[in-house]
Amino acid sequence: MTLQDELIAAIRNIPDYPKPGIMFRDITTLLGNPRAFRRAVDELVHPYAGTGIAQVVGIEARGFILGGAMAHQLSSGFIPIRKKGKLPRETVSIAYSLEYGVDEMEVHKDALKPGDKVILVDDLIATGGTAVAAANLIRQLGADIAAACFVIDLPELGGRAKLEALGVEVRTLVS
Ligand code: 5GP
Repeated sequence: MTLQDELIAAIRNIPDYPKPGIMFRDITTLLGNPRAFRRAVDELVHPYAGTGIAQVVGIEARGFILGGAMAHQLSSGFIPIRKKGKLPRETVSIAYSLEYGVDEMEVHKDALKPGDKVILVDDLIATGGTAVAAANLIRQLGADIAAACFVIDLPELGGRAKLEALGVEVRTLVS
């Protein structure tokens, strides 16, 4: 089975969640599948092994699970981008639009240094609102984004193109 077919088979599709008309891509089944989880993580990181990635930066919450495994594989650190109010020390924060209203995410101000080479990760990119905000936060701290990685791309929602327009290399495994 190709990697793509294996990952697609491991992802569960939940119709009408969280709202009628939405098809939710549930990756908990992929995470719970030892072979699919390992293959997904290996495939996301392999171009970046040995390229001097200092940190993997994960977006709360599913980006933490993938990002921790990726950081281990790359022998890098892991930095969390969290919802507002969860980090104990001084942060930089950014507002971003959700389907209804706005939210804020933040990162510790001392988590990244200017010039640090980092990989950004989340489970899925849709409109790109979340990932673009995260990329802007990373750049506010002066770090250099080597790539943004996602297991799933929903290309018709345009997120990948938005990140690429910002000069961010995007790596995804299934669309
Ligand atoms: P965007 O900001 O690109 O529109 O939405 C991406 C964010 O919403 C990501 O943080 C992602 O985890 C979450 N998300 C949106 N739709 C889905 C989905 O169908 N499945 C999963 N697992 N996450 C989703």
